[in-house]
Amino acid sequence: VSTVRTVLGDIDARVLGTTLMHEHIICGISDEQTIREDDVVEDLQAYLGCGGRSIVELTNTGMGQRADALERLSNASGVIIVAGTGFYVEKWHPPLVSKSTIAELETFMVHEIEDGIGESAVRAGIIGEIGTSSAAITADEAKVLKAAARAAAIAGAPLSTHTSGGRLGREQIELIKAEGLPLNRVSIGHLDLHPDPAYHTAIAAQGAYIQYDTFGKLQYRSDADRIECLVEMVHRGFERQILLSNDISRSAYLSARGGWGYCHLLQTVVPELERRGVTQGAIGLMLRDNPARFLSFASRASRSA
Ligand SMILES: [Zn+2]
Repeated sequence: VSTVRTVLGDIDARVLGTTLMHEHIICGISDEQTIREDDVVEDLQAYLGCGGRSIVELTNTGMGQRADALERLSNASGVIIVAGTGFYVEKWHPPLVSKSTIAELETFMVHEIEDGIGESAVRAGIIGEIGTSSAAITADEAKVLKAAARAAAIAGAPLSTHTSGGRLGREQIELIKAEGLPLNRVSIGHLDLHPDPAYHTAIAAQGAYIQYDTFGKLQYRSDADRIECLVEMVHRGFERQILLSNDISRSAYLSARGGWGYCHLLQTVVPELERRGVTQGAIGLMLRDNPARFLSFASRASRSA
């Protein structure tokens, strides 16, 4: 049986159902971007109402992560939540990152996966979002990414990245590959911010998942642009490697606050994919089967040769 690690414990992967692969539920990298516990309950219930079941929550240390709150919110709402570990872009690294070696950062992430996040007993089920800046991958970001790849191999956990503006995904892949982590354990995030099918093919052809996870953020890119590229990648046969989400990262994006909310993907994007001829089979893969496969833990310390 394939197992997924949620904030309430390990579950059979088949229970996950429709899953958003890159979201924030509690988030505080700046006052403006904070999502508080009280803000979000209504939107989590709405998400179940529109057919959703599970959310991957990629807020980690330095981004205002609150594992205890995620546990409470999962219990209160019934939404299955998978929590992240690791570190975001360098601007939001805690001091720990620059002071630590790769081995120490690897130990930190394995600890949060196997023992609990921070002082809590709530365990992380994914490494992410692991960030890189837009112009270049900084030395500390490369250190974190290497540690993340090693921790993913040791703990058997999936690894999810943040690219800035969708750029440098190939460079992330090169760093991860060099650590020996199989690329079917890796998802490259925010690629829909740079919707170039040739670029996405270069990543997916190596076996990694490609993430279209900022639907609704029209200030960066129209959903039409995202959908155009996604449909092309389905036509190219990569529907088993595509993961989807909305990246709700501020209170203003919640539907209770007048935003588009966690339901946007299911209520607005999926109907448009259907109109564009994407089959129910492909949609089921992207919403359910791919998340279940990717989030399932591999056996511990299964490094590739
Ligand atoms: Zn991100």
